[in-house]
Amino acid sequence: MIRDALDRPLRNLRLSVTDRCNLRCQYCMPEEEYVWLPRNDVLTFEEMDRLVDVFTDLGVDKVRLTGGEPLLRRDLDRLVRLLAANPRIRDLAMTTNGVLLAEQAPALRAAGLHRVTVSLDTLREDRFKALTRRETHARVLEGIAAVAKTGWSGLKLDTVVMRGVNDDELADLIEYGATVSAEVRFIEYMDVGGATHWSMERVVSRREMLTRLAERYGPIEPIVEETSAPADRFRLPDGRVFGIISSTTAPFCRACDRSRLTADGMWYLCLYAARGTDLRQPLRTGASREDLLALIRSTWQGRRDRGAEDRLATPERSPLMQIGELKRDPHLEMHTRGG
Ligand code: SAM
Repeated sequence: MIRDALDRPLRNLRLSVTDRCNLRCQYCMPEEEYVWLPRNDVLTFEEMDRLVDVFTDLGVDKVRLTGGEPLLRRDLDRLVRLLAANPRIRDLAMTTNGVLLAEQAPALRAAGLHRVTVSLDTLREDRFKALTRRETHARVLEGIAAVAKTGWSGLKLDTVVMRGVNDDELADLIEYGATVSAEVRFIEYMDVGGATHWSMERVVSRREMLTRLAERYGPIEPIVEETSAPADRFRLPDGRVFGIISSTTAPFCRACDRSRLTADGMWYLCLYAARGTDLRQPLRTGASREDLLALIRSTWQGRRDRGAEDRLATPERSPLMQIGELKRDPHLEMHTRGG
């Protein structure tokens, strides 16, 4: 197990398998046009597996497939099968928007995917259409229903809460979560790259979410846990549990053991980092396993990033990136980094 300059271990790898997405969520991909990663740069499954194998040598034991939309990557179950064969990965998960989940769930489960998180921002079809600019809400709900049918447990539903958009649905989402055996996690709207329409007025803080939920349900009890998980968890008086990811107003950089590998092999130590480390180039030009181990080890050992805390300390906070910067380097986009 290696540790960074702030004594944080390298444990959690988010692997973006594609930068493409089949939704256009206003908080993530609000533009009409995007610059995509060149196809030839996108790693093969064998290349991804080789890099993940090196990461697991250095302590990574949690891998989450993400994107873009991971289910747009053809034959994703083949990658899952490769990764599932690595015994050092204790937790092999995927974050998806759910649109293609119903059809792919059986193959992914058979390939060895441990669990699934589905992003669901609203229960209302009209809102979904306005938020995502697509008409596939029913398919997302079918995808969520498919999770239990396929035999997975541990389903989580992630909701980005935006003022004036879906902030009146907090309790409805908790109620819906109970019907599909899912734990709901509310995510504060973040000022990451790609979120060019972000403003502090649109953020509903953890504190405000808790106040509103307490008005509806009564006293809410925080669950005390020693984990590096991004969500703080809470218990309602009836025993149901939900989470809040408060990266915008109460960040948790101190405990952050996450890093992100993009589909073209750029490695980012922080969601807010301007620059990453190119692992594709050494991988494709004959670097040995020892070379890759040394590169990843020394990069992690120099890590000092506290991106969300730095943002919190920024006066007059506004979107992190301008359109021009995002077009020049699509790696700055949330949909390339994988969220
Ligand atoms: N397409 C998949 C999905 O929808 O879950 C995986 C990729 S998506 C970029 C990963 C997560 O990032 C989603 O839960 C999404 O809601 C979240 N996300 C994107 N932009 C965000 C923002 N500005 N603030 C907070 N969360 C955001």
